[in-house]
Amino acid sequence: MRATAEVKRCQDCRAMVIAAINTDARDTLCDVIPLSRPGELAANIAGRRTLRLDTDKRLWTTGADRIRTEPMPGDRILAEHRCGQPVPAAWTQPLPEPSDSPDMEVPF
Ligand SMILES: [Zn+2]
Repeated sequence: MRATAEVKRCQDCRAMVIAAINTDARDTLCDVIPLSRPGELAANIAGRRTLRLDTDKRLWTTGADRIRTEPMPGDRILAEHRCGQPVPAAWTQPLPEPSDSPDMEVPF
């Protein structure tokens, strides 16, 4: 099974994308810029699917049912590629991590 992800260009808009067959066995294109955890939420709320690329270059579908799970170390969260809709910068910024902040809990 050739499921490992590779970087290529979208045939429609020529943007750099990560292409893979995801765990739902569907051919999937993702934008290359990794999302932050809040960005993953924001993307889902905006109706954009998100996927996780693990260190074995496998692409896993995430979504409302799996959003609560923390990514494994080394995983990258990616948004589904949509031509002409680049990932907003606000989705990609890393979380500020003050050491005394309580853990964020997703309320759903
Ligand atoms: Zn495209």
